[in-house]
Amino acid sequence: MDNNENKEICTSCGGRCCKRMPGSFFPEDFPAETRRERILAGLRAGLYQLDWWEGDRREYFLRPAITGDNRMFSPTWGGQCALLTEKGCPLPFNSRPRSCRELVPGTQPGKCFTPWDNDKFEAKQAWAKDQIFQDLIKELE
Ligand code: SF4
Ligand code: SF4
Repeated sequence: MDNNENKEICTSCGGRCCKRMPGSFFPEDFPAETRRERILAGLRAGLYQLDWWEGDRREYFLRPAITGDNRMFSPTWGGQCALLTEKGCPLPFNSRPRSCRELVPGTQPGKCFTPWDNDKFEAKQAWAKDQIFQDLIKELE
């Protein structure tokens, strides 16, 4: 997708979105050939965490880790993205989680737009259809 960054607005905002909760990864953020290894490496390095949608059963999705939370499985309700630096997100735009890329800065800091109502819901729906991810969850649980 096109780069929709607005460094002026986001710098003056100070990254409220990233301080509130990391965005969610979607399967297409990782090429299928290396998906399993990259997710596993990120989890083992403490850079990613497995979160889940609260329902009758756990429906997992992947996101960057929360600062200060060392769990691999983390059903957090919020917290700062562990990847965030004083200079903002260190990842190139196209390497960020899909829902981070889809958040469009508005005309004022913090007044931003998303194409979804709840990115966790969208993410868990997408990961539920990804067999590579589902197999990995079974191994790790
Ligand atoms: S996307 Fe919105 S909430 Fe996030 S840093 Fe930019 S202005 Fe702030
Ligand atoms: S990955 Fe980058 S853009 Fe997304 S929440 Fe973390 S610091 Fe913010």
